[in-house]
Amino acid sequence: MNWLFSWIHDFLWPPGPWSPYSKTRPKIHFSEKDETETRLEESGDLNALQRLRYQKYRGETNSCEKTMRALLSIEELIRLASQQEDCINELLRQCPDGSFRDEAIAVVKETRRLLWNLTRLWWLHRNVLGEGVVGRALDLWRSNSMWYMHEVLVEDCARKDGCCSRGCGCCAKRHQTFTRPLTAGHCSIGCRCCIRWRGFDLNREEENEIYKEFQTRERLPFYDQIELASIWGLRLNCHKSPFDLIKPGCELVGQKDSGHKLCSPDTTDNWDDCSSATES
Ligand SMILES: [Zn+2]
Ligand SMILES: [Zn+2]
Ligand SMILES: [Zn+2]
Ligand SMILES: [Zn+2]
Repeated sequence: MNWLFSWIHDFLWPPGPWSPYSKTRPKIHFSEKDETETRLEESGDLNALQRLRYQKYRGETNSCEKTMRALLSIEELIRLASQQEDCINELLRQCPDGSFRDEAIAVVKETRRLLWNLTRLWWLHRNVLGEGVVGRALDLWRSNSMWYMHEVLVEDCARKDGCCSRGCGCCAKRHQTFTRPLTAGHCSIGCRCCIRWRGFDLNREEENEIYKEFQTRERLPFYDQIELASIWGLRLNCHKSPFDLIKPGCELVGQKDSGHKLCSPDTTDNWDDCSSATES
C-alpha cells in the first residue's frame, strides 16, 4: 500500500524540478549569495541579477573600486603591449633582413616579459576582488570571450577612430588569441591597422598627451559607463541581458560611412620601405 500512499502524496504535493539552489541552507561566509541573488539567478533575468550585484557593491563599505579600476587599466596596458608586439612581428615578417632586426627582436622579448608581468598583476588584482558580488558579476560577464564587444565599448572604440569605426573587424577577431585571453579587446595607440589607417606615427608629445588622459579620465562621467560595461555588462537605462548587448561581428557603429578594409595586404604601400619603418 506504500506505493498508493506515495502516489497520492506526489499527486497532492508534486515534487518540484531538481534545482542546485537551496533556499534554506545557512550561509557559511558573508560573501555567499543571499536569497534574492539566488532567486534572480534562478529566474534567468541576468540584467536584474547584475544590477542587484552592482547595487550591493555600491553599498559595501570596503568598496573595491580602486582594484576594479586597476584591473581595467592593466587590461589596457596588456592590449597596448600585445598590439605593439604585433606591429614589430609584422615588421620582421615583411623585412626579415632589415638592419633593425636585432633591435626589434630585443624589443619583442622585452614586450613579452612585460606581458607576462602584467598578466600576473591582473590575477593578483582579480584575487583581491575575491568571491563576492563583484567577483561573481565579473565571472558571469567574462564567461563570454566576446564580452568586450559590448555596445558601449564598441562605440567608445569607434569614437576614438579605432578599428570599430571602419568595419575591418580587427577588434572582433582579437578574442581568438586563446593563449592570451587578456589581450582581447579594442584598439590601443599601438594597433597596426589603426597606424596604417592614420598614415603617420604619433610623435612623443602626442603619445604623452594620450598617456596623461589615461590618468585623468577616471574622473569623467563617461568612464563610469565604460566600467559598467566592462565589469558588469550593463548599460544605463537598458534592461536587456548583458549578453544581448554584444555585437558579434565588425558591424559599423555610428553614422560613419566607410568601406575601408585596411587589413588586406595590398594596402601596405608605405610599409614596403624597410628603412623608413625603423624610426620611432
Ligand atoms: Zn582594423
Ligand atoms: Zn585598430
Ligand atoms: Zn574596436
Ligand atoms: Zn584591419
